[in-house]
Amino acid sequence: MIIVMNESATLSELGQVIKVLEDRGFHPRPSHGQSGTVIGVMDAAGSDLADVAAMPGVQQVSPLSSKFKLVSRGFQDAPTVVRVGDIEIGGKDFVVMAGPCAVESKDQFLTTARHVRDCGGNIVRGGAFKPRTSPYSFQGLREEGLQIMAAAREETGLPVVTEVISPETVPLVTRYADILQIGARNMQNYALLDAVGSQRKPVLLKRGLMSTIEEMLLAAEYLMSNGNNQVMLCERGIRTFERATRNTLDLSAVPVLKEASHLPVIIDPSHAVGYVAYVDAMARAAVAAGADGIIVETHPDPANALSDGQQSLDFPAFARMMEGLKPIAEAVGRRMPAVADPAT
Ligand code: PEP
Ligand code: MN
Repeated sequence: MIIVMNESATLSELGQVIKVLEDRGFHPRPSHGQSGTVIGVMDAAGSDLADVAAMPGVQQVSPLSSKFKLVSRGFQDAPTVVRVGDIEIGGKDFVVMAGPCAVESKDQFLTTARHVRDCGGNIVRGGAFKPRTSPYSFQGLREEGLQIMAAAREETGLPVVTEVISPETVPLVTRYADILQIGARNMQNYALLDAVGSQRKPVLLKRGLMSTIEEMLLAAEYLMSNGNNQVMLCERGIRTFERATRNTLDLSAVPVLKEASHLPVIIDPSHAVGYVAYVDAMARAAVAAGADGIIVETHPDPANALSDGQQSLDFPAFARMMEGLKPIAEAVGRRMPAVADPAT
């Protein structure tokens, strides 16, 4: 059930409603939006709440018929804005997260983080725990990789996003990262979703290689039902019959997700297309389609990268991509950050 409070409802009226619900053994979850507060009561489905509907401050009590509850527009109409330091994701800004697929060394990562910052990127990405298709491929520097990322944040001021691949390592990754990424291969790892949903850092949830939009939203529902409402949805390409690109970017996921959910939507053009030649065009398309940001791979020496070199932009290509995004962002009413003055 969902209880919509009047815009003018007082805190004490809200408190009364919550108390009545709790006294009946329900678990009300208030959400404060721009046009007032709504209270989700997931465990009250089918209950008679006519008395609650008559309480002061209550505008409406209605059943939540959608399969999606906490993630849905029905639960919260106002867009969720995820805050990472002073960066807002899901608001007016178009946010760029960029960096190498994997953290390989301090020098490689710091050089990249500086370049991302100097080109106007907001957040630096890098994998310390890598979910590789082959067990013989580079698996990541693990905690050393996380330490390198923390050092890069210290120097550049950019927050870091990194993938967590198992419930046991959630506390470790949470100590270092600003945003926890759940990779495509783990989108339906429910033990991991529960563990990541139970901590309070923002989460970037990537769409599974073979997952529908509905399955993705239900995975996000796992995160949110564990109490984490700082969730971002990431479309990174899905597997189709097409072999010209690594995956097929489902750009229509942007408006579909925006209609169904209040959560920010991020596009990963790198994993979607798999080749540097196509990344730039899809990044621009992401801005035009209304995404809230992109996550892109860039590397100082893609030819010698330990993972995903073929889809990693070299530094000049990354700088060109950033320049190309700006006029499009402006045309669709989004703001991109001013480029930092390299002298400062
Ligand atoms: C990554 O971001 O490096 C990654 C492994 O992405 P995905 O989970 O989308 O394949
Ligand atoms: Mn990668």
